[in-house]
Amino acid sequence: MIDPVETLKEKIVLDCKILQNQRLLDVYGHVSARLPDGRILSTPHMPPGKVALRDLIVIDMNGQKLEGLGEPNSETPMHTSIYKARPDVQCILHYHADELVVVAASAQGIKVIANCGVHFYRGTPIYDSPVLIRNHQLGDKVAATLGNHNAVLLRGHGGTVVSNDLDMLLRLGIDLVRSARIQIMAAPLGPLKTHSQEECEQMVKGHDRPNVNRRYIDYYISEVVD
Ligand SMILES: [Zn+2]
Repeated sequence: MIDPVETLKEKIVLDCKILQNQRLLDVYGHVSARLPDGRILSTPHMPPGKVALRDLIVIDMNGQKLEGLGEPNSETPMHTSIYKARPDVQCILHYHADELVVVAASAQGIKVIANCGVHFYRGTPIYDSPVLIRNHQLGDKVAATLGNHNAVLLRGHGGTVVSNDLDMLLRLGIDLVRSARIQIMAAPLGPLKTHSQEECEQMVKGHDRPNVNRRYIDYYISEVVD
């Protein structure tokens, strides 16, 4: 029988390897997921792309470590505040991709000019401070800025993506940075034609199909597994 906790652990480690391989993670950044018992599984205070199964830690909703050898990341309050504010969120990615910093500095958020951006058509709010999220007060502010969206940009800092599924989290994490990159590439061309809300809604509807992310995820897995 497949152990759901082991499956979550393996997916977190694989997601981190893929994000590292895509150069979306560096020294910093972290991934966490809600466990069935309400506790939180998290990468520890180490470069996330280097995390192995044995490194993962379990924390409570106050960010206190319950299991594991490593220590929690200093920005753990961002995760716990979002989990408290959003019962639908099952997993969180926080990272510092340069493209997200550029778009956040423009105070525009992600413009949907490419199909990889349709997940974000309801907007990507910007948390307007570069200060790291190291206490619950700041965590609550980021959670409030995120609201019911699936991504929030943090000015001068990076971005945070949330999902109810680790496969979708990986897709959102990659597609958010790709959307930002395309937006930056297109910026010198002048005014941009964006997808309409109707076009985005039409495309996002297709994301409800079972295994819709399989081909996408399999491609990125093949890039990190021999
Ligand atoms: Zn950060």
